[in-house]
Amino acid sequence: MLNIEDIRKEFPILDTLVYNRPLVYLDNAATTQKPKCVIDTISEVYSTMNSNVHRGVHHLSQVATCAMEKSRETVRDFIGAKECCEIIFTRGTTESINLVASSFAETFMKEGDEVIISTMEHHSNIVPWQLLQERRGIKIRVIPLTGNCRLDIEAYRNLFNEKTKIVSVAHVSNVLGSTNPIKEIIEIAHNHNVPVLVDGAQSIPHKKINVQELDADFFVFSGHKIYAPTGIGVLYGKKKWLEAMQPYHGGGEMIKSVSFSKTTFNELPYKFEAGTPDYVGIIALGRALEWVNSIGIENIASHEQELTRYAVEQLNTIPGMRIFGEPDSAAVSFLVGDIHPADIGTIIDRLGIAIRTGHHCAQPLIDHLGIPGTARASFAVYNTKEEIDTLIQGIARAVKMLS
Ligand code: PLP
Repeated sequence: MLNIEDIRKEFPILDTLVYNRPLVYLDNAATTQKPKCVIDTISEVYSTMNSNVHRGVHHLSQVATCAMEKSRETVRDFIGAKECCEIIFTRGTTESINLVASSFAETFMKEGDEVIISTMEHHSNIVPWQLLQERRGIKIRVIPLTGNCRLDIEAYRNLFNEKTKIVSVAHVSNVLGSTNPIKEIIEIAHNHNVPVLVDGAQSIPHKKINVQELDADFFVFSGHKIYAPTGIGVLYGKKKWLEAMQPYHGGGEMIKSVSFSKTTFNELPYKFEAGTPDYVGIIALGRALEWVNSIGIENIASHEQELTRYAVEQLNTIPGMRIFGEPDSAAVSFLVGDIHPADIGTIIDRLGIAIRTGHHCAQPLIDHLGIPGTARASFAVYNTKEEIDTLIQGIARAVKMLS
């Protein structure tokens, strides 16, 4: 059993009053709040070891470089990767997907080749492929959904042909809060010798991830959704793919030697980390993952799943409630009657309750559902059932005002 009250004390922002009421922060799928140890780490790095990494022979540079590379090892261990060189630091999920789309396509795809994505993808797993469609004539095939908003796996099987070069799908939907059968998806793709990119933005904070067990070819996530600072993220890639792929950005750090006639690239992971990395963010990401380890990701997952079950149960007591999909992770999307979700969000904000409303950067899914958007409550380890009760009272009040 987790002591949630003790955990809450580690998050300074949770003491905030919003319109004179205690903050009820249920927008964790957008970004999580940060524990004090992560906030302190940022200040500590600037106060005690700030120096550009990898380049200096001097003491501070070596201390900062060691701390950054220790974080790479923490990330490797956290996601069960085989080698540290398979961990590339990026700005987040979006940059990681853009990196793979760009570098993979440049190396392995030609006009007419196909990528498979799904109806429930976040825009950041749609638009990078559309850019390739425009620039390089690559085709996008889309996995449809079943009636209960699950991926239609039979239809997915039928999307493969000799032109399919990569599959790129979300592990957990940021709108529906449902988990896709990612192992099966990967197995099916591998039977066609096609690699799979897993968008782990919404799974990494809520599930034990082992990229080797999943046999994922690429796994991407953002630090800020797992208690780390904004602006730092990860691309895991199997070494065989990363070694073969062209670099994404060019610049310092990613080269072995440069002359005007020929440049040779650095080894992994540096080949994909051009320029000064966000070493402060990287070190703080390592600290955040250590913090998660100290609580235990399985403990976090079971607490959040319990909150999700409770939220679904309580939401369903509100007349006219519609919950979309089958949430099993840490987010629930809903509408009440024909009330616009933004109206609910705005009214309950005055009660100190933060939820997200709108299309959640997944417009094709929202169009598929034929709705203007949803209201989404999403949970983290510091949330409580009492906060869900406050949410339910808030929604009931908003519905009363708006009906
Ligand atoms: N993919 C999914 C499933 C997401 O939920 C998000 C963010 O909400 C992203 C990608 C993009 O993440 P970021 O904006 O941190 O790059």
